Amino acid sequence: MNEFQIVRRKVPAVLAAQWFKNGDHPEDGSIVIRGEGVESFLSEGQIVRYFRHPNVSGDAVCPECKNRMHEHGWIGQARCNIPGGMKVCPGDWIVHYPAPRLHACNPAQFVEAFQADASGMNPGEAYEHGRREQERLSEDALKGLRQAKDSAYHERDRLVAALSKCFPSFLARHPAGDAWEDDWRNIVFVMMPTGQASWHIHDSELPLFSHLLMTSSIQWDGHTTEEKYQRLEALQSGSIFHAAMTAAVRKGGELA
Ligand SMILES: [Zn+2]
Repeated sequence: MNEFQIVRRKVPAVLAAQWFKNGDHPEDGSIVIRGEGVESFLSEGQIVRYFRHPNVSGDAVCPECKNRMHEHGWIGQARCNIPGGMKVCPGDWIVHYPAPRLHACNPAQFVEAFQADASGMNPGEAYEHGRREQERLSEDALKGLRQAKDSAYHERDRLVAALSKCFPSFLARHPAGDAWEDDWRNIVFVMMPTGQASWHIHDSELPLFSHLLMTSSIQWDGHTTEEKYQRLEALQSGSIFHAAMTAAVRKGGELA
């Protein structure tokens, strides 16, 4: 028996920047606006915008950080993927998940979830590395899905092959020239008492059907997938072979 090990989830490096006031975010692009007779000010940040809400007064106190709402920022829905966008409290860290998707978290959450990257990469490299890592993870997931699909096809083909040994069956080729993929043009026709059933078989699975004759004289009768499985369900379990086997099991006899 194996013992438990303590493991940590590998999380790709991400970029993060702490925000205290308008213009703090590295990509805010705020500039100093000067005018005559007015105090100069920073233009609104492009990433973390001003917090403005028709139903929340700028003088209201934030339940989280106790600062006035006026001193808060806002990340729009398009950037954070949260309906309505998200509030940024002074001191929050803006974390850049790949996509790019931004998320504001307070300093305690940030310390809990993140640590400084010790790889010596500069932020650009770290971000690129994180992006590639994320891509690799989704490629792995995709590969797993493909394998699962291939293995489901393989099981299905083995069942169809068995079925093709129980009823008169033939191989045919899907007519060339339409949008069907070239390596999927093989069709197995199984002529059941309840009607015809057909399945497309990938080239790589043809060896399972080497007992069948390839012919162009069998035509698809137009059955849909749904009709095909209705015909399968309609099969009776009344064959002589089936009846003899069932009788033998009922008598407690040995099956040859
Ligand atoms: Zn707050």
